[in-house]
Amino acid sequence: MFSWFGKVSYCPHTKVAAFADRLKTGRIMASRCAACGFVSFPPRADCPKCLSGEFGWTELSGRGKIVTWTRIDAAPAGFEDEVPYTIGVVDLEETGRLLAWFGESIPEGEIRIGMDVQVVPRLFEELPDIKVHYTLERPGTTWFKEPVPGEAAP
Ligand SMILES: [Zn+2]
Repeated sequence: MFSWFGKVSYCPHTKVAAFADRLKTGRIMASRCAACGFVSFPPRADCPKCLSGEFGWTELSGRGKIVTWTRIDAAPAGFEDEVPYTIGVVDLEETGRLLAWFGESIPEGEIRIGMDVQVVPRLFEELPDIKVHYTLERPGTTWFKEPVPGEAAP
């Protein structure tokens, strides 16, 4: 339809948009550089190691360890109804670091720095803005995964 423009423009945002699609199916994806194999989470369209713009997807296990955590009693705008809640920073087993809420499987009294956790993608349809986020759960926690649209089921 727009072929008269002569070329298709890709920006990094659209190149990693598939990350959100896979997250919605219950997967945590990292980018893997096609040139040097460097794995990055969060995914990056351009390799920070060799600067190649070619990459594929690799699924992470979601296993990780707590680096630090805190309890939120004075919430930022939009989260006032959720307090108190606890959040943690996790070093993922394969690579990368993320911030997530603790799920119901880990009571606050059991949280320790260095403890093993399972990062679980969650869909919250009732929230208008944040549709997908993660919770931190006990190791071994399983969750529902849907097939990725257009790909064979695992
Ligand atoms: Zn690379």
